[in-house]
Amino acid sequence: MRLYNNLINEIKSILCNSKQLDISNVSLNVSNKNSVIFLSDTAYELGGSQKPCVSSLAVSSDMSFSNSVYLLGNDLNEIKADSPFGKFVFIQVEDFPDEQDTFNKIKELESLRYHLSVDGFMTRASALNMREQIRVSKKIVKSGVTFSDYGNALLKEYLKFSYVKSAEIYFVTDFDDFEKLNSLAKKISQTTSALNHIFDNVMFDCSTCNLKEICDEVDGLKELHLKNVKK
Ligand code: SF4
Repeated sequence: MRLYNNLINEIKSILCNSKQLDISNVSLNVSNKNSVIFLSDTAYELGGSQKPCVSSLAVSSDMSFSNSVYLLGNDLNEIKADSPFGKFVFIQVEDFPDEQDTFNKIKELESLRYHLSVDGFMTRASALNMREQIRVSKKIVKSGVTFSDYGNALLKEYLKFSYVKSAEIYFVTDFDDFEKLNSLAKKISQTTSALNHIFDNVMFDCSTCNLKEICDEVDGLKELHLKNVKK
């Protein structure tokens, strides 16, 4: 699966000034049930108060990642109020001969953000507008937890899947160019929508399809649809 490679490279070049965080030894509890953090217990919300906010996940079978966490902007212990927030997850998956298998894995990896809960963090995610807001508890901020701890907890969960070979997570709390990153995240989301369309056995008719723009831009989508029609 190479459909997302150019988009991943573009995002990484925009985030090239991110610092690589030391992977921490702090172990945070992770569960499959999103915890509830009331407003009175919240220190601040990442992406809250309508601040710029974007979240995206993309996979590749031939790009390898550093199993690291990166940060652009202030760390959790430096943030004092609701802040802009970006989260980008890049994952190298096994090279499945059938693209439908890769697509099923993408859905599985994407679903993690809706049900995975890290102690002291409450995620509110929307696939529609690519926002992922995170309430951070006063208790966890007071304990000195950082993005290194939080990111490491998430990274370990992704690496538990047998078909995941490597991954990287980028957090952003200070955007140089939010609009550009948001538009690249939108293209990733549209590429995944096109895959959904293709594997739903929808007719191959680009003239009436609302995904034409992304299929014209991302190399390989049209060929994949054509190949699937012929099966
Ligand atoms: S290849 Fe054409 S029909 Fe298929 S998803 Fe893209 S635009 Fe739509």
